Amino acid sequence: MKIKAADVLVLGGGAAGLFFAAEAAAKGLSVRVIEGANKVGKKILMSGGGRCNFTNRDVQPKHFLSQNPKFCRSALASYSHLDFLALVKQAGIAYEERDLGKLFCQGSAKEIVKLLLDRCQQQGVEIELNQPIQEVEHLGSDFVVRTKHGCFQAERLVLALGGPSIPTLGASPLGYRLAEQFGHSLIPVRPALVPLTWDGQLKERFAALSGISLVARVQSKGGQSFSEPVLLTHRGFSGPAILQLSSYWQPGEAISIDWLHPENLEQLWELWQQQHGKSQLSSLLSPLLPSRLLAELLADSPLNWQQKVAELGKKHRQMLKQRLCQWQMVPSGTEGWRTAEVALGGVNTKEMDAKSLASKKQEGLYIIGELLDVTGWLGGYNFQWAWSSAYSCAKHL
Ligand SMILES: Cc1cc2nc3c(=O)[nH]c(=O)nc-3n(C[C@H](O)[C@H](O)[C@H](O)COP(=O)(O)OP(=O)(O)OC[C@H]3O[C@@H](n4cnc5c(N)ncnc54)[C@H](O)[C@@H]3O)c2cc1C
Repeated sequence: MKIKAADVLVLGGGAAGLFFAAEAAAKGLSVRVIEGANKVGKKILMSGGGRCNFTNRDVQPKHFLSQNPKFCRSALASYSHLDFLALVKQAGIAYEERDLGKLFCQGSAKEIVKLLLDRCQQQGVEIELNQPIQEVEHLGSDFVVRTKHGCFQAERLVLALGGPSIPTLGASPLGYRLAEQFGHSLIPVRPALVPLTWDGQLKERFAALSGISLVARVQSKGGQSFSEPVLLTHRGFSGPAILQLSSYWQPGEAISIDWLHPENLEQLWELWQQQHGKSQLSSLLSPLLPSRLLAELLADSPLNWQQKVAELGKKHRQMLKQRLCQWQMVPSGTEGWRTAEVALGGVNTKEMDAKSLASKKQEGLYIIGELLDVTGWLGGYNFQWAWSSAYSCAKHL
């Protein structure tokens, strides 16, 4: 079989791989992208409900989880959200800002894939599709990559194979295996930005409320909180607040939900007593929460719905607060890789150079994107990490 050579081989034609390839080729290097799927950027196409939340107005290191929190700083500083936004504008892609600074295409995520492909084409990047990678070796000073249908060789190898979420899109854990093969250690990998599930009694009680969505404040045992919509599903909790919290949740831990947020029960109480002391508890609470959810949250409690607000004692007020503002539940698990948006954990960044994204274990090896132990919040942060890490790597090549 004829070996195809290049200066740089990029494994993975996703967000980071394509962005890197064009930047590296612009420096005059010959670059070849090896992609296992029948087309590039499948996760981009699916992202943001088909509109791709490609970055965020406010990107800071605090929006990323890692065992080595300072690692992402250099790459994020070398290529910011404004840099990517400038590209989007230059390409004439219409975009819109949604809540919490999230930037989306107005049209379709296809426009972001086209932007990346156009840049690759302009710079003469070779893209090899339908090439599931079988093995990689380092022979002499070269890396040799064997796929189902070909053999490729280069002095420099960039791993941009992403995480294993949504295997039906071509995702695989191969990147982790290759990193380990070249001497890297892994920070344990698990699904993140993923719905949390329930079972047993909770499922029996809450599955019937599927479809209810409201803004609430959710908090992890470690104290991380998010105030965004929570969605009840047949299998558990979803919605942005829960997806965010899943990155901070450990199996077996309870999560706490303030269903009344952004209302403050203490302040409400003062007002209720002064103005509506004679009203019944039920008529005060029903405008604040869907009645079916309210009934479930207060089920089995001795609170009397017909009781007048002014007559409610301290003990019962405390109970009301616990049920509505500090409601606790222990999820049974997550929906797993089938629906997770990203992987938490990954290649240990202490073994990587933060500027060049070069491996400290294997000369000529570089690792970018989601494969590393850098996981963004929901809101365009994961794509920004893909762009920033890819750019920084190409810049220092
Ligand atoms: C449903 C969904 C929606 C998302 N929405 C957003 C969003 O709106 N905003 C945001 O910031 N992030 C979003 N993300 C996360 C974002 O898609 C990823 O963080 C980002 O794509 C990571 O870029 P990457 O290049 O590292 O990996 P990927 O983009 O996953 O690229 C990896 C590439 O490697 C290829 N590959 C894998 N294994 C093999 C193999 N064995 N052989 C050959 N090729 C292989 C894959 O086919 C893929 O093309 C979403 C993720 C999902 C799943």
